[in-house]
Amino acid sequence: MHTKPGRKAKHLSKNWYPVLNYEQCTACGACLRKCSHGVYEDKDGMMVVVSPEGCVEGCRGCQKLCPSGAISYFGEQNPDSKPGSCCCT
Ligand code: SF4
Ligand code: SF4
Repeated sequence: MHTKPGRKAKHLSKNWYPVLNYEQCTACGACLRKCSHGVYEDKDGMMVVVSPEGCVEGCRGCQKLCPSGAISYFGEQNPDSKPGSCCCT
């Protein structure tokens, strides 16, 4: 199957994706259940960011649900990053 090189879906960005603090994470799975973009996988009971490119720039859907405050975002310090919304928010 062919895909054109360099072609990307709209809104998807590697400049923005969740980063988990495993000292705070209780592995409740809320982030995995919330995200419909396949960003997370359960690896032996730990939630792992396996597909950062699936995250939608500016979305904080999983962070809002995290009971432990364990989720921050790569890219949130970037002054160019904009608040976004997607089906996860
Ligand atoms: S929602 Fe928060 S505490 Fe729960 S698994 Fe995800 S990062 Fe860990
Ligand atoms: S921020 Fe949104 S798109 Fe990104 S992983 Fe969390 S719920 Fe999924």
